[in-house]
Amino acid sequence: MPTRPSAPHDALGQDTTHDTTHDTTLVTGGRDPFAYHGFVNPPVYRGSTVLAPTVADLLGYTQPYIYGRRGTPTSVAFQDALRALDHSAGVVLCSSGLAAISTALSSCLATGDHLLVTDSAYRPTRHLCDGVLRRLGIETTYFDPLIQDDALTALIRPRTRAIYLEAPGSLSMEVQDVPRLAALARERGLLVVMDNTWATPLFFDAIAHGVDLVIQAGTKYIAGHSDVMIGMVSASPRAWPALEQYHRDTGQCVSPDDVFLAMRGLRTLGVRLRQHQVNTLRVAQWCATRPEVQRVCYPALEDDPGHALWSRDFSGATGLFSVVLRPAPAPAVAAMLEGLKYFGMGYSWGGFESLAMPFDCTPYRSATRWNPGGPCVRFHIGLEGVDDLLADLDAGFTRFNRAAS
Ligand SMILES: *Cc1c(COP(=O)(O)O)cnc(C)c1O
Repeated sequence: MPTRPSAPHDALGQDTTHDTTHDTTLVTGGRDPFAYHGFVNPPVYRGSTVLAPTVADLLGYTQPYIYGRRGTPTSVAFQDALRALDHSAGVVLCSSGLAAISTALSSCLATGDHLLVTDSAYRPTRHLCDGVLRRLGIETTYFDPLIQDDALTALIRPRTRAIYLEAPGSLSMEVQDVPRLAALARERGLLVVMDNTWATPLFFDAIAHGVDLVIQAGTKYIAGHSDVMIGMVSASPRAWPALEQYHRDTGQCVSPDDVFLAMRGLRTLGVRLRQHQVNTLRVAQWCATRPEVQRVCYPALEDDPGHALWSRDFSGATGLFSVVLRPAPAPAVAAMLEGLKYFGMGYSWGGFESLAMPFDCTPYRSATRWNPGGPCVRFHIGLEGVDDLLADLDAGFTRFNRAAS
């Protein structure tokens, strides 16, 4: 059955391909040109030592900046912009998205604590939980991303400290009921941690939906040009003091050049995401009509199982989605992907360019069974002309069919 696409709508029923709610904040956030002689962008402050004019200033920490590691006008400008977008109590910058995940979790867990993690989490998150955190005496239980209240309640122990969500799930794209899971967790005194990389603050307001620690792999859409590694964690008021303290005590900071590039990416996040969304809807809709495709996993499509939750909670869909192909040997998938002209094969996503990658969640899922019934491919749809992308994929499916038969 063909999958019918629908334009994403916000709570007021407006077509969010034209949603401009955040555009002004994206342009103005963290900018103060006349503090910098009228230059539009805050400059890159390279520096370790910050001089104090008097002994009293030096020993009393009276100046706005104290030491390079503790922040520069460049990093503070970016944090200000992100805090405004997330409506959070504060934001810390980390050297990668994965560093942001480990920072968020480490800031709220101690030896003996128990952690609940969605089975659909980004795989390196699992490595962190099953390796470093376990070694520190923190135990993780994975749960079905679509878990019901009773089943989740049954997993909560006296030492359960936090629940970790990701929506849609990495690769498999299940949409979690974040406000319901967050409310239940909060009632039980848990902190709610979420990886919000897919939606970004533009398409999902995590803190308003009950999340305490919001993770962004800024490497993806915020930097947006496949040229920077950066991560950030935004915190609710109750989670902020411990996050800030942990981040400071572990000595984390990001190079001012990388902060500058990420901030430059942020300025165009609104227009880029709108175009990623338009392009992706067209490609996903087209994929759904192909006989080679059994299922398209993209919550913006009306018959996706996550569509209802997505329409209720999200204000847009970004450029990452997955397809389940009809059963075929692995060389057929390779023949399809290796000949693509505009889709590169590689990890990461969120840049201006299109990507394709085969995947299989079977080996590591533990709370749920991943049994899609055919080989799976994840696509990131970039900002190329959609007709070129469709022609490229069409030729790819021809290679797939030839190799499969
Ligand atoms: C890529 C990714 C990360 C990690 O970001 P890096 O900057 O590559 O460390 C975290 N979460 C999700 C969902 C991702 O896709």
